[in-house]
Amino acid sequence: MANSWVMGQDITSLNAAILDRRDDLIALTQDLIRIPTLNPPGALYRDICDYLDRRLRRSGFQTELIRAHGTPGDSDTYPRWNIVARRDGTAPGDCVHFNSHIDVVEVGAGWTKDPFGGELEDGKIYGRGACDMKGGLAASIIAAEAFLATYPDFAGAIEISGTADEESGGYGGVAYLAEQGYFDPARVQHVIIPEPLNKDRVCLGHRGGWWAEIETFGEIAHGSMPFLGDCAVRHMGAVLTAFEDELYPAMAARTTDMPVVPEGARSSTMNINSIHGGQPEQPDDYTGLPAHCVPDSCRIVIDRRFLAEENIDDVRGEVTELLEGLKAHRDRFDYDLREINMVLPSMTDRNAPVVQTVAAQIEEVLGKPAEFVASPGTYDQKHIDRIGKLKNCIAYGPGILELAHKPDEYVGVDDMIDSAKVMAGALVDILVTPSRA
Ligand SMILES: [Zn+2]
Repeated sequence: MANSWVMGQDITSLNAAILDRRDDLIALTQDLIRIPTLNPPGALYRDICDYLDRRLRRSGFQTELIRAHGTPGDSDTYPRWNIVARRDGTAPGDCVHFNSHIDVVEVGAGWTKDPFGGELEDGKIYGRGACDMKGGLAASIIAAEAFLATYPDFAGAIEISGTADEESGGYGGVAYLAEQGYFDPARVQHVIIPEPLNKDRVCLGHRGGWWAEIETFGEIAHGSMPFLGDCAVRHMGAVLTAFEDELYPAMAARTTDMPVVPEGARSSTMNINSIHGGQPEQPDDYTGLPAHCVPDSCRIVIDRRFLAEENIDDVRGEVTELLEGLKAHRDRFDYDLREINMVLPSMTDRNAPVVQTVAAQIEEVLGKPAEFVASPGTYDQKHIDRIGKLKNCIAYGPGILELAHKPDEYVGVDDMIDSAKVMAGALVDILVTPSRA
């Protein structure tokens, strides 16, 4: 089969094929940004899937558009559409799957650029979703197209998917596809998710998450005679004090061997997302005064992120124990705890084939060793791991992590080119290199 000289020549032409597509890469990224697939509510999924469908069929892919009927948020107004495109080689072999989410988060304040303009300035393309993760999607498409032009005869298959709802849990996207068997290890062997983890880093997985609502109860009474009622907000104050005194120090003391970035996320963390107690807030144009009532209910939503070394039962248990302690010792204290969602941590083995392949290509393209990281927040790897049972999965993409969800989000064109080289090189390594046959 190919000797190293021939292989070297092909790699040169592969890189040339990527560089030749620079304008195409820019235009593709801009086109994707200009379809405002905001989630919530989950807008224009069908439009972006139709766009990708046309593009990938032109490149010889067979495509399927799949609506995740009945998943959270799916409706006739906002249907949860996904696309899975596949191109088979000329011989049997492994399948490499690039999975990108097509949704973007709300715009928010503080922009100086048009969030859906796809403006190109100084080698950066601006827009909501540029970095997270339409730039990564575009880079993976260009990588696959350049690979197909350079190596028309390859073994195995390439798949590219565009999936809904990652920003809201992925239940109408990757979770649904995994349930339908699209990430069955018999069908797909390697998954690369081009999330914005920076072009020189391989992301092995993510921490777990546990979301719950806690409600404390009281008894309504006239505000001038609070002793005739029972204040649910004061009970919640006792909960928060117990968190400060016991839970936060305990969590801060726990650290992980997971290479989570940024480093602050190498301990357990908990955010208190919201607090509501007493009367509902009135609209801004309400000019009246509040009524005088003792609140009979107070609710908080907690967002607890946990480490691979922690057990979900312990995570739930320590909060419950704290609440039970208050119930035993605090007069009239009563509570309800409702779990909202739970995601277990996911970590791909550092020696897994896709990890080693992409890391070697990073070193080849960028001239320095790859960094191995894990993500503080979860992403669609959780579904590929837990539902699909596919362990050979990483996140690798061109965007700069810290720009995700920020105003004036952008993706660098050179970063997309470099990461496309890495992705295309990984395709060569898995689908062409004779030693793997
Ligand atoms: Zn993302």
